Parts: sequence; structure tokens; C-alpha cells
Amino acid sequence: MKILVIEDEEAIADALIHMLIKNKYLADACYDGESGLDNALTGIYDLIILDIMLPKINGLDVLKQIRNQHINCPVILLTAKDEISDKVTGLDYGADDYITKPFAIDELLARIRSIQRRMNNNITNENIIKFSDISL
Ligand code: CA
Repeated sequence: MKILVIEDEEAIADALIHMLIKNKYLADACYDGESGLDNALTGIYDLIILDIMLPKINGLDVLKQIRNQHINCPVILLTAKDEISDKVTGLDYGADDYITKPFAIDELLARIRSIQRRMNNNITNENIIKFSDISL
């Protein structure tokens, strides 16, 4: 599983990358919205962790453009703002989950695992062929 972290606070981004790699994920970091968007649009990532307050292009606009380009990988928003409106906008733009800073790394990892399980379930369901009461 390959994860893209888009976060301008380099200390947080680097700590996240370190924890993700330690937990057997592949992970890259981008430190602004523009390079984050460019990387996200390559389509090689299975999950994106996206900060909202970013230089150049803010996280919500990055998210909007990712979805406009039909990149459908799960996105977890990371935000210092505990504002309902940001969460609502983010979810409406197609985020799958959000976590408010400061957060516990264990909670973020649990949310990633939860999204992974949902992805795996979707894949499994698509591979089931049903005919009458017989499932293959
Ligand atoms: Ca930020």
C-alpha cells in the first residue's frame, strides 16, 4: 500500500512518513498543495493524507481537483481547524475521513486500517459472482 502525505509542516510530515514506513507502508511526502496535487494526479497512490491549510493550493482545492480528474483513491483530511464547515466541505468534496490535529498516530493508523478493510471488502464483493442462491 502506497501512501502520499501532503503536509507543509515538515516535522509532522516527516514524523508521519517515519511511522508509516515503520508500519510497513510505502510513503512519500509533499510539502505544498501544488506538488501534492501533481503527485496525487500520477494515480500511483492507494491513499492520500491531505492537510487543509497548505501553501500554493489549499487542501480542499487539491481534493476537488483530484476528484475532478477521477482519482478515486481514499483521502484522509488532516486539519488543525476544528471547524465543522471544513469537515463538511471536505466530505462533500470526496474525502473519506478526517482527523483533527493534534492527533494520536495510533488513531491515524487505525483509520488507515479501517479504510484498507473497506477497500478489501469492495474488491472481494466485486469478485463474487451470484446466480440464484449460488455464490462463486
Ligand atoms: Ca498546514
